[in-house]
Parts: sequence; C-alpha cells; structure tokens
Amino acid sequence: MNENHEKFIKRCYELAISAGKKGFDTFGAVLVSDGKIIAEAENTSDYEKGLFGHAEFNLVHKCANQFSDATFENAIFYTSCAPCVRCLMAIASLGIKKIVYGVSYKSFQKLCPTEEEIPDYESILAQMKVSMKMIGPILEDEGMHTFEYWGGEYRPLAELIAEMDEVKKQNN
Ligand SMILES: [Zn+2]
Repeated sequence: MNENHEKFIKRCYELAISAGKKGFDTFGAVLVSDGKIIAEAENTSDYEKGLFGHAEFNLVHKCANQFSDATFENAIFYTSCAPCVRCLMAIASLGIKKIVYGVSYKSFQKLCPTEEEIPDYESILAQMKVSMKMIGPILEDEGMHTFEYWGGEYRPLAELIAEMDEVKKQNN
C-alpha cells in the first residue's frame, strides 16, 4: 500500500482522537495537494443542537472557495472512516476526484446498532457522471482503535463491539 496514504491517514486518526477527547465523535479528515496537507478538520457534531458537524463536511466547508477547481481536481481527500452519503455529496461538490479512507463501511458497522448493505457509491456517482475514486481501507486496525475515544470516555474496542453485537441480537 502507498506509504503516503498511510502517513496522511495517520494524521486523520490523530484528528479523530483529538475530536474524541473533546467529547465529539472520533473522525478526522485532511486535504492533500502536491503531497502537502492544505486543510484539516475534526468532527464537531452536536446532537443537542442538531448540528451535523461531520469531519468531512467541516473540511469541505473550510475549503470551499479557498482553493481553485484545478487544486481540488488534483488533490486527495483523506478521511479516517469511509464517508456517509451527505459527506460524499459534499466532497463531490468540491470537484474532488480521489478519496482515501482509513476504516471501511463494513468495519465501521461493527460499531453501529444495525448492519446494512452498503451501496456501491463509486458506481452510483459514475452514473451521475461524477468520477470519484475511493481507495481504502488503509491501516484499518489502527483506525478502529480511534473509536475507543468516542465522545470523551475511553472504552476498549472489544467492549464497544460486544455491546453493539448485543444490541443487534436484541433487534433480530
Ligand atoms: Zn458524514
């Protein structure tokens, strides 16, 4: 696997843990142009206020109208976890062509109360004539451990997964 991908995904994981330690959900994202980070963002979701605050969305917001279309076209968007649909659309709106993610949708579902079939987003976007390549997972085991800092209270990964397995069992 490409070494640079690992370097920038590691930075996303640092940002994810930083967000977690502040009491937010553990996600981070960086935008890389010509091998350098030009912008970074963490998750700032606030459920009480109903603020979306996903790291990728925050990063798009930071970058919009700050860099040229040409910059976005050649940039790589790194994120600690495969992006949700809202963020994917936001990233596409910048004209980004390449997303690299740490944790895959499938692995992230181990930490969710339900498990769903994940659509092939790359193909769906291609049908809309949006060419966006998604590369990953990268350093996924390390990425899964960032979730131990979720919401400001450290809990071991095995415990988080076991809890969700229990919820899934009850839902069946
Ligand atoms: Zn999102």
